[in-house]
Amino acid sequence: MFDTLTDSFKNAIGKIRFHDDEKALKKALAELKKALLKSDVHHKVVKELIVTVEKETKAAGIGKESFMKALQDELVRILTAKGNQGFVFASRPPTVVLMTGLQGSGKTTTTGKLAYMLKEQKKKKVLIAAADLQRLAAVEQLRQIAEQIGVDLVADENATPDEVVKRALKKAEDELYDVVLIDTAGRLAIDEELMEELARIRDLAQPDEIFYVADAMTGMDAVRTAQTFKDKIGITGVILSKFDADSKGGVALGIAHQVGVPLRFIGSGEKMPDLEPFIPERITSRLMG
Ligand code: GDP
Repeated sequence: MFDTLTDSFKNAIGKIRFHDDEKALKKALAELKKALLKSDVHHKVVKELIVTVEKETKAAGIGKESFMKALQDELVRILTAKGNQGFVFASRPPTVVLMTGLQGSGKTTTTGKLAYMLKEQKKKKVLIAAADLQRLAAVEQLRQIAEQIGVDLVADENATPDEVVKRALKKAEDELYDVVLIDTAGRLAIDEELMEELARIRDLAQPDEIFYVADAMTGMDAVRTAQTFKDKIGITGVILSKFDADSKGGVALGIAHQVGVPLRFIGSGEKMPDLEPFIPERITSRLMG
């Protein structure tokens, strides 16, 4: 994450000699702008960020330190979208979460990772519902994951997604589960049929949260699809998968700033423990070195 930004930016900033003068600041701002655009950050976000960093640096007295602090503060502000942070439990269990995302985004893997984290770290009783019957291999994939992490699963290739969801919710009520994670259908691209199915499942399950799993590697596309899922389904949080493989940081800024949905977790690898809470300060400190 932010690799592009880190390398080019750090090099350039390192070469600038700040002597309390505006020329150095202008140079630093120009370098920052270049690095942000290269990292796939939307030009509107870049413009806003540059204006604020310039103002704050001047207010604090021009220097490398004040410049870097203004940048750090502004990045954290942008990355902290309004809404819940991390995983929030419903006041009355079970907490029902819809897991949504396009095919290949990492939705099924992330469902397993979240279940694993809730079981291991929070000591919760977790149930997964395999309601992605669009891609039948997804059910088998979830079976293997559930077995591997020791979490219960409701799955039936011959049932409809609605039936699977109903069965899972009933089982959760009857057997006092804390959390139900519903893995929903994906598609290669957004289409009406998918949105209708998701809206139906949402109305049926009345989830406490709707998470959208976005592939960080898809850059601006991830921002655009997150926006569509927000408009059509009403997502309440985003999990950025494949963050380990991403080299363009703009996607996190774009989702927080443009879409306005809080980032909850980041996927940092293919294994079950590879899920981390999204902490803006941690992300920006990687950038700032
Ligand atoms: P789905 O179609 O959205 O359910 O996608 P999958 O869960 O099957 O994931 C697609 C591919 O992405 C698989 O090969 C996963 O191992 C991989 N993947 C998922 N999350 C991550 C991640 O955080 N980092 C990396 N490097 N790979 C991931």
